[in-house]
Amino acid sequence: MNSNVLVLNASYEPINICMARRAVVLVLKGVAICEEASPHYLHSPTRKIPIPSVIRLRHYIKVPRIREKRPTKKNVLIRDRNACQYCGKKASPSELTLDHITPRSRGGKTRWENLVACCRRCNSRKGDQAMTDAGMSLLKRPREPVHPFQLHLFRARGNVRKRWRKYLYYS
Ligand SMILES: [Zn+2]
Repeated sequence: MNSNVLVLNASYEPINICMARRAVVLVLKGVAICEEASPHYLHSPTRKIPIPSVIRLRHYIKVPRIREKRPTKKNVLIRDRNACQYCGKKASPSELTLDHITPRSRGGKTRWENLVACCRRCNSRKGDQAMTDAGMSLLKRPREPVHPFQLHLFRARGNVRKRWRKYLYYS
């Protein structure tokens, strides 16, 4: 019952994430339809109601523009899954730093493409140098998540990730 449900607009654009109970109510009221079911059920005294994983509203609603997610340390660590992007070491958020690939002192911007999770060891090795000057390279090129909801996707676990994935490349 505590699982999250992805809510799509009638146009399939992801617009929200809600709790399972709310999603079931929307489906029962006919406001939304279940696009992807979860393997879980809600048990009432008389019925066994499947809990959706993704629902879609029957009627298009106007949604205020979702604010762009900022590349804060927290968000970058979610994107990079708490792994140093230089050596691949996984660590807890408190043990990771937010690294400007091109240091700010050299004009590097605070943008998704210039920020990566970095362990303390790599951070002190790199210091204030540009990545290539320090003889370091990245495991993969950092990008801005395609859609703010992708941050939720990065956070979601195994099967939820599978069921939500195809809806989160909307742009
Ligand atoms: Zn590292």
